[in-house]
Amino acid sequence: MKNPKEEQTYVMIKPDGVRKGLVGEVIRRFEQRDLKIVALEMFQPTHDQIDNHYPKNEEWVTRLGEKTVSTYEKYGYDLIADFGTTDRAKIGPEIRKWLLDYMKSAPLVKMIVQGLHSVDVVRKLAGETLPYKAAVGTIRGDFSIDSPALANKEKRAVMNIIHCSETPEEANHEIKHWFGDNTTYDYKRFGVDE
Ligand code: GDP
Repeated sequence: MKNPKEEQTYVMIKPDGVRKGLVGEVIRRFEQRDLKIVALEMFQPTHDQIDNHYPKNEEWVTRLGEKTVSTYEKYGYDLIADFGTTDRAKIGPEIRKWLLDYMKSAPLVKMIVQGLHSVDVVRKLAGETLPYKAAVGTIRGDFSIDSPALANKEKRAVMNIIHCSETPEEANHEIKHWFGDNTTYDYKRFGVDE
């Protein structure tokens, strides 16, 4: 069992975060919360890297479609007009495709963030997936307002500044996928590690 301070999570600053000049701001918020950046790199992803990052299983893809269907129902939008179908199993793959295009549209910044409950704390600092719902004070709530209502009309993914792992298992998987066995950089943070 590792020391709880060594929990790691995977974070990627998405194209809109990079293009809005938020690289420093995102890192600042993690460091301010006593989390430690132990690996960091800007890079242009390949199609396959992004394709393998997002799950391909039916359950995950259909969940993406389900979220969209519920937004359309809530606002009374016309699914047939935008997607040509009401079948969430067909809508999910369409959104996944938009997501791949979006993620390849500019360089990304990937990092491993380490610290106590880093997975949950980073999700909390990020805020809800859909920026218009994200609380003020979170990264998404302070710097974005996008929603599926607009994104789906424009046939693109919801732009929400960062990606961060949802569970420690997902974090391990994503860290391996993006950093391989590359070693992280360990150091002692003043006031945190000593
Ligand atoms: P995350 O873990 O918070 O990133 O959220 P998900 O794993 O549920 O979704 C992956 C990504 O798909 C999100 O970060 C958004 O960029 C995008 N996305 C999620 N839901 C929708 C949607 O209903 N419509 C569109 N266009 N994009 C979405």
